[in-house]
Amino acid sequence: MDKPDFVIRPEEAESAAKQLGVSVLELLPSLVKPAKSYARPPISKFNVGAVGLGSSGRIFLGVNVEFPGLPLHHSIHAEQFLITNLTLNGEHQLKYVAVSSAPCGHCRQFFQEIRDAPAIRILITDPNESPDSAADSDGFLPLGSILPHRFGPDDLLEKDIPLLLEPHDNRLAISDLDSENTAESELKRTALAAANRSYAPYSLCPSGVSLVDCDGKVYRGWYMESAAYNPSLGPVQAALVDYVANGGGGGYERIVGAVLVEKEDAVVRQEHTAKLLLQTISPKCDLKVFHCYGA
Ligand SMILES: [Zn+2]
Repeated sequence: MDKPDFVIRPEEAESAAKQLGVSVLELLPSLVKPAKSYARPPISKFNVGAVGLGSSGRIFLGVNVEFPGLPLHHSIHAEQFLITNLTLNGEHQLKYVAVSSAPCGHCRQFFQEIRDAPAIRILITDPNESPDSAADSDGFLPLGSILPHRFGPDDLLEKDIPLLLEPHDNRLAISDLDSENTAESELKRTALAAANRSYAPYSLCPSGVSLVDCDGKVYRGWYMESAAYNPSLGPVQAALVDYVANGGGGGYERIVGAVLVEKEDAVVRQEHTAKLLLQTISPKCDLKVFHCYGA
Protein backbone atom coordinates (compact mmCIF):
# COMPACT_ATOMS: atom_id res chain seq x y z
CA MET A 1 0.00 0.00 0.00
CA ASP A 2 1.55 3.36 -0.96
CA LYS A 3 -1.34 5.64 -0.07
CA PRO A 4 -2.95 4.42 3.13
CA ASP A 5 -6.33 2.86 2.55
CA PHE A 6 -8.40 3.27 5.72
CA VAL A 7 -11.49 1.55 4.29
CA ILE A 8 -11.21 -1.74 2.40
CA ARG A 9 -14.20 -2.82 0.30
CA PRO A 10 -15.60 -6.36 0.83
CA GLU A 11 -14.45 -7.56 -2.62
CA GLU A 12 -10.93 -6.21 -1.98
CA ALA A 13 -10.87 -7.92 1.42
CA GLU A 14 -12.04 -11.21 -0.09
CA SER A 15 -9.50 -11.14 -2.89
CA ALA A 16 -6.63 -10.23 -0.50
CA ALA A 17 -7.67 -13.07 1.81
CA LYS A 18 -7.87 -15.49 -1.11
CA GLN A 19 -4.39 -14.52 -2.29
CA LEU A 20 -2.98 -15.27 1.17
CA GLY A 21 -5.03 -18.46 1.48
CA VAL A 22 -6.78 -17.24 4.63
CA SER A 23 -10.29 -16.21 5.63
CA VAL A 24 -11.32 -12.53 5.81
CA LEU A 25 -11.30 -12.88 9.59
CA GLU A 26 -7.72 -14.18 9.52
CA LEU A 27 -6.80 -11.21 7.34
CA LEU A 28 -7.56 -8.74 10.16
CA PRO A 29 -4.46 -9.41 12.32
CA SER A 30 -2.24 -9.31 9.22
CA LEU A 31 -3.42 -5.72 8.58
CA VAL A 32 -2.54 -4.49 12.07
CA LYS A 33 1.15 -3.98 11.30
CA PRO A 34 0.60 -1.85 8.16
CA ALA A 35 -2.09 0.07 10.09
CA LYS A 36 0.43 0.82 12.85
CA SER A 37 2.75 2.46 10.33
CA TYR A 38 0.12 5.18 9.65
CA ALA A 39 -0.13 6.21 13.30
CA ARG A 40 0.87 9.78 14.27
CA PRO A 41 2.12 9.63 17.86
CA PRO A 42 4.89 12.30 18.05
CA ILE A 43 4.68 12.40 21.88
CA SER A 44 4.63 8.73 22.91
CA LYS A 45 6.29 7.38 19.75
CA PHE A 46 4.09 4.35 20.52
CA ASN A 47 2.25 3.34 17.35
CA VAL A 48 -1.08 1.60 17.73
CA GLY A 49 -3.07 0.03 14.89
CA ALA A 50 -6.65 -1.24 15.09
CA VAL A 51 -8.44 -3.10 12.30
CA GLY A 52 -12.19 -3.72 12.38
CA LEU A 53 -14.61 -5.80 10.33
CA GLY A 54 -18.10 -4.34 9.95
CA SER A 55 -21.35 -6.15 9.22
CA SER A 56 -21.21 -4.88 5.61
CA GLY A 57 -18.00 -6.88 5.06
CA ARG A 58 -15.89 -3.74 4.85
CA ILE A 59 -12.63 -3.54 6.81
CA PHE A 60 -11.72 -0.29 8.60
CA LEU A 61 -8.39 0.90 9.97
CA GLY A 62 -7.71 3.02 13.02
CA VAL A 63 -4.49 4.58 14.34
CA ASN A 64 -3.50 6.72 17.30
CA VAL A 65 -2.99 10.45 16.77
CA GLU A 66 -1.29 12.83 19.24
CA PHE A 67 -0.98 16.61 19.17
CA PRO A 68 2.19 18.26 20.51
CA GLY A 69 1.43 21.50 22.36
CA LEU A 70 -1.86 20.23 23.77
CA PRO A 71 -2.81 18.30 26.91
CA LEU A 72 -2.77 14.53 26.38
CA HIS A 73 -6.55 14.16 26.63
CA HIS A 74 -6.87 15.70 23.16
CA SER A 75 -5.22 12.58 21.68
CA ILE A 76 -7.22 10.19 19.50
CA HIS A 77 -6.77 6.52 20.43
CA ALA A 78 -6.58 3.95 17.63
CA GLU A 79 -9.85 2.28 18.67
CA GLN A 80 -11.62 5.66 18.77
CA PHE A 81 -10.21 6.44 15.33
CA LEU A 82 -11.54 3.08 14.15
CA ILE A 83 -15.05 3.71 15.53
CA THR A 84 -15.03 7.23 14.03
CA ASN A 85 -13.95 5.80 10.68
CA LEU A 86 -16.89 3.35 10.85
CA THR A 87 -19.45 6.04 11.64
CA LEU A 88 -18.11 8.52 9.05
CA ASN A 89 -18.57 5.77 6.46
CA GLY A 90 -22.09 4.81 7.57
CA GLU A 91 -21.16 1.35 8.90
CA HIS A 92 -23.88 0.19 11.31
CA GLN A 93 -22.17 -2.59 13.21
CA LEU A 94 -18.69 -3.63 14.27
CA LYS A 95 -18.22 -7.39 14.52
CA TYR A 96 -14.50 -8.05 14.98
CA VAL A 97 -11.46 -5.98 15.95
CA ALA A 98 -7.76 -6.84 15.84
CA VAL A 99 -5.56 -4.39 17.71
CA SER A 100 -1.80 -4.19 18.21
CA SER A 101 -1.86 -3.61 21.99
CA ALA A 102 -4.38 -4.31 24.73
CA PRO A 103 -7.08 -1.60 24.55
CA CYS A 104 -6.86 0.90 27.40
CA GLY A 105 -9.78 1.39 29.77
CA HIS A 106 -10.82 4.55 27.95
CA CYS A 107 -11.25 2.63 24.68
CA ARG A 108 -12.98 -0.35 26.29
CA GLN A 109 -15.42 2.26 27.60
CA PHE A 110 -15.83 4.06 24.27
CA PHE A 111 -16.77 0.75 22.56
CA GLN A 112 -19.79 0.59 24.90
CA GLU A 113 -21.61 3.15 22.74
CA ILE A 114 -22.02 0.46 20.05
CA ARG A 115 -25.13 -1.74 20.27
CA ASP A 116 -24.33 -5.17 21.80
CA ALA A 117 -20.78 -4.04 22.57
CA PRO A 118 -20.02 -6.98 24.90
CA ALA A 119 -20.45 -9.32 21.89
CA ILE A 120 -17.84 -7.55 19.71
CA ARG A 121 -14.93 -9.95 19.33
CA ILE A 122 -11.43 -8.67 19.86
CA LEU A 123 -7.95 -10.02 19.15
CA ILE A 124 -4.80 -8.48 20.65
CA THR A 125 -1.87 -9.16 18.33
CA ASP A 126 0.90 -8.08 20.77
CA PRO A 127 3.12 -11.20 21.05
CA ASN A 128 3.76 -10.38 24.72
CA GLU A 129 0.09 -10.88 25.53
CA SER A 130 -0.49 -14.30 27.04
CA PRO A 131 -3.40 -16.21 25.48
CA ASP A 132 -6.68 -15.56 27.24
CA SER A 133 -8.78 -18.47 28.44
CA ALA A 134 -11.90 -16.61 27.23
CA ALA A 135 -10.58 -16.62 23.63
CA ASP A 136 -12.03 -18.83 20.90
CA SER A 137 -9.79 -21.10 18.84
CA ASP A 138 -9.42 -18.20 16.36
CA GLY A 139 -7.91 -16.08 19.16
CA PHE A 140 -10.78 -13.56 19.38
CA LEU A 141 -12.42 -12.89 22.74
CA PRO A 142 -15.67 -11.14 23.55
CA LEU A 143 -15.22 -7.51 24.55
CA GLY A 144 -17.50 -8.29 27.51
CA SER A 145 -14.78 -10.51 28.94
CA ILE A 146 -12.30 -7.62 29.15
CA LEU A 147 -14.83 -5.11 30.49
CA PRO A 148 -17.08 -6.92 32.94
CA HIS A 149 -19.61 -4.98 35.07
CA ARG A 150 -19.80 -2.34 32.39
CA PHE A 151 -21.32 1.10 32.79
CA GLY A 152 -22.83 2.12 29.49
CA PRO A 153 -25.74 3.60 27.55
CA ASP A 154 -28.18 1.14 29.21
CA ASP A 155 -27.55 2.90 32.52
CA LEU A 156 -28.53 6.34 31.23
CA LEU A 157 -30.66 6.02 28.08
CA GLU A 158 -33.99 4.54 27.05
CA LYS A 159 -33.55 1.32 25.06
CA ASP A 160 -34.87 2.76 21.77
CA ILE A 161 -32.36 5.65 21.53
CA PRO A 162 -30.10 5.05 18.49
CA LEU A 163 -26.55 4.30 19.58
CA LEU A 164 -23.30 5.56 18.07
CA LEU A 165 -23.19 3.55 14.83
CA GLU A 166 -26.95 3.76 14.21
CA PRO A 167 -28.48 6.42 11.93
CA HIS A 168 -29.09 9.85 13.46
CA ASP A 169 -30.89 12.94 12.29
CA ASN A 170 -30.75 15.70 14.88
CA ARG A 171 -33.00 17.93 12.72
CA LEU A 172 -30.84 21.01 13.12
CA ALA A 173 -30.97 23.97 10.74
CA ILE A 174 -29.28 27.33 10.14
CA SER A 175 -31.39 30.34 9.08
CA ASP A 176 -31.24 31.22 5.37
CA LEU A 177 -28.50 28.69 4.61
CA ASP A 178 -30.42 27.26 1.63
CA SER A 179 -30.31 30.56 -0.25
CA GLU A 180 -26.72 31.35 0.69
CA ASN A 181 -24.05 31.00 -1.94
CA THR A 182 -20.69 32.21 -0.70
CA ALA A 183 -17.33 30.41 -0.62
CA GLU A 184 -18.15 29.49 2.95
CA SER A 185 -21.56 27.98 2.23
CA GLU A 186 -20.25 24.54 1.32
CA LEU A 187 -18.25 24.35 4.54
CA LYS A 188 -21.28 25.51 6.52
CA ARG A 189 -23.57 22.95 4.89
CA THR A 190 -21.03 20.18 5.46
CA ALA A 191 -20.62 21.12 9.14
CA LEU A 192 -24.41 21.31 9.58
CA ALA A 193 -24.88 17.90 7.95
CA ALA A 194 -22.18 16.58 10.31
CA ALA A 195 -23.94 18.12 13.34
CA ASN A 196 -27.11 16.36 12.22
CA ARG A 197 -25.31 13.02 12.45
CA SER A 198 -23.67 13.82 15.80
CA TYR A 199 -24.18 11.34 18.64
CA ALA A 200 -24.90 13.38 21.76
CA PRO A 201 -27.64 11.52 23.66
CA TYR A 202 -26.30 12.49 27.11
CA SER A 203 -26.01 16.27 26.76
CA LEU A 204 -28.33 16.74 23.74
CA CYS A 205 -25.69 19.16 22.40
CA PRO A 206 -24.76 17.81 18.95
CA SER A 207 -22.09 19.54 16.89
CA GLY A 208 -20.24 19.10 13.63
CA VAL A 209 -17.06 20.39 12.04
CA SER A 210 -15.90 20.76 8.45
CA LEU A 211 -12.29 21.39 7.46
CA VAL A 212 -10.83 22.49 4.13
CA ASP A 213 -7.24 21.95 3.05
CA CYS A 214 -5.10 24.16 0.80
CA ASP A 215 -6.22 22.13 -2.26
CA GLY A 216 -9.88 22.86 -1.46
CA LYS A 217 -10.65 19.32 -0.32
CA VAL A 218 -13.27 19.16 2.44
CA TYR A 219 -13.34 16.84 5.47
CA ARG A 220 -15.93 16.50 8.22
CA GLY A 221 -16.60 14.92 11.57
CA TRP A 222 -19.11 15.06 14.39
CA TYR A 223 -19.15 15.01 18.16
CA MET A 224 -19.62 11.59 19.77
CA GLU A 225 -20.39 11.12 23.44
CA SER A 226 -19.65 8.40 25.95
CA ALA A 227 -21.86 7.40 28.88
CA ALA A 228 -18.74 7.92 31.01
CA TYR A 229 -18.39 11.47 29.59
CA ASN A 230 -14.57 11.77 29.49
CA PRO A 231 -13.97 9.33 26.61
CA SER A 232 -16.29 11.48 24.40
CA LEU A 233 -14.63 12.54 21.14
CA GLY A 234 -14.87 16.16 19.99
CA PRO A 235 -15.97 17.18 16.50
CA VAL A 236 -12.54 18.54 15.51
CA GLN A 237 -10.88 15.24 16.41
CA ALA A 238 -13.53 13.38 14.40
CA ALA A 239 -12.90 15.65 11.39
CA LEU A 240 -9.16 15.06 11.83
CA VAL A 241 -9.85 11.32 11.56
CA ASP A 242 -11.38 12.06 8.14
CA TYR A 243 -8.36 14.23 7.30
CA VAL A 244 -5.80 11.60 8.33
CA ALA A 245 -7.75 8.85 6.55
CA ASN A 246 -8.36 10.79 3.33
CA GLY A 247 -5.89 13.65 3.26
CA GLY A 248 -3.02 11.73 1.72
CA GLY A 249 -0.74 11.93 4.75
CA GLY A 250 -0.02 15.68 4.76
CA GLY A 251 0.70 17.82 7.83
CA TYR A 252 -2.10 19.62 9.64
CA GLU A 253 -0.83 23.04 8.48
CA ARG A 254 -2.46 22.15 5.14
CA ILE A 255 -5.81 22.70 6.88
CA VAL A 256 -6.62 26.34 6.11
CA GLY A 257 -10.29 26.72 7.00
CA ALA A 258 -12.81 25.25 9.40
CA VAL A 259 -16.45 25.64 10.36
CA LEU A 260 -18.03 24.51 13.61
CA VAL A 261 -21.82 24.25 13.90
CA GLU A 262 -23.42 23.91 17.33
CA LYS A 263 -26.45 25.16 19.27
CA GLU A 264 -26.13 28.64 20.72
CA ASP A 265 -27.50 27.84 24.15
CA ALA A 266 -25.71 24.48 24.42
CA VAL A 267 -24.69 23.32 27.89
CA VAL A 268 -21.80 21.48 26.22
CA ARG A 269 -20.00 23.84 23.84
CA GLN A 270 -17.13 23.01 21.52
CA GLU A 271 -16.12 26.50 20.35
CA HIS A 272 -13.23 27.23 22.72
CA THR A 273 -11.74 23.75 22.57
CA ALA A 274 -12.06 23.66 18.78
CA LYS A 275 -10.26 27.01 18.54
CA LEU A 276 -7.47 25.87 20.85
CA LEU A 277 -6.95 22.60 19.02
CA LEU A 278 -6.99 24.08 15.52
CA GLN A 279 -4.78 27.05 16.46
CA THR A 280 -2.20 24.69 17.89
CA ILE A 281 -2.01 22.25 14.98
CA SER A 282 -2.57 24.73 12.14
CA PRO A 283 -1.99 28.34 13.28
CA LYS A 284 -3.19 29.85 9.99
CA CYS A 285 -6.46 27.93 9.98
CA ASP A 286 -9.46 30.23 10.08
CA LEU A 287 -12.25 28.81 12.27
CA LYS A 288 -15.78 30.17 11.94
CA VAL A 289 -18.57 29.23 14.31
CA PHE A 290 -22.24 29.18 13.35
CA HIS A 291 -25.17 28.47 15.60
CA CYS A 292 -27.99 26.20 14.58
CA TYR A 293 -31.44 25.66 15.99
CA GLY A 294 -33.51 22.53 16.39
CA ALA A 295 -36.23 21.90 13.81
ZN1 LIG B 1 -7.18 3.64 24.22
